[in-house]
Amino acid sequence: MTAEETLAQIAAEVAVCQNCVLHHSRKHAVPGEGPATAEIMLIGEGPGFHENEQGRPFVGAAGNFLNELLAQAGLKRTDVWIGNVVKCRPPENRDPQPDELAACNAYLERQIAAINPKVIITLGRYSMGKFMPGVKISQVHGQMRRVGDRFVIAMFHPAAALHQAALKPAIMADFSKLPQLLEQARAALAKSPTTSNAKAKEPPEEEPKQLKLF
Ligand code: URA
Ligand code: SF4
Repeated sequence: MTAEETLAQIAAEVAVCQNCVLHHSRKHAVPGEGPATAEIMLIGEGPGFHENEQGRPFVGAAGNFLNELLAQAGLKRTDVWIGNVVKCRPPENRDPQPDELAACNAYLERQIAAINPKVIITLGRYSMGKFMPGVKISQVHGQMRRVGDRFVIAMFHPAAALHQAALKPAIMADFSKLPQLLEQARAALAKSPTTSNAKAKEPPEEEPKQLKLF
């Protein structure tokens, strides 16, 4: 299966999934969207009202602001893949619960494996917690860290930045650094593409010679 076919397959599974209670509040599942070849995946929290109506991620006010932030970084929305940690709308936009995050995680894992992005941008604390457990957004926002075979940048959630005036300049400054961070990620991954390859390049471990003596 091509990456595109895998993503379509996941979207079809998500549309009828009943693995957690969020399927009760779903009008349209929001599997995520964007090119299978995207270098950047942005991962938010979960669908809100408008996303649930349209089956597309980040199409409300937070989405409009996200489009602006991407444009500021020289990126078009169609250049990146955008999704969420849960694919169905939590009732009244409440926070996703641990069992719901756990139930939905496999879809996101498969999406990441299919796309194999260089950079994952987390939007909000649930997404950040998946890749950088235990960190504080106030301390790490806008910084890039290597996590396995790729890089992760934790950003404030655009909806939070819209509601808290103090965060707006911070998220804008963080997104404006994105082109530079992407260059760094590309260069680092060109040198050491995957942790598994790095291992494969090491000389094979010598057989313990002493054993042969016996
Ligand atoms: N907020 C999110 O976290 N995700 C969306 O898709 C929309 C708003
Ligand atoms: Fe399934 Fe995820 Fe929707 Fe829960 S949120 S029903 S796990 S697709």
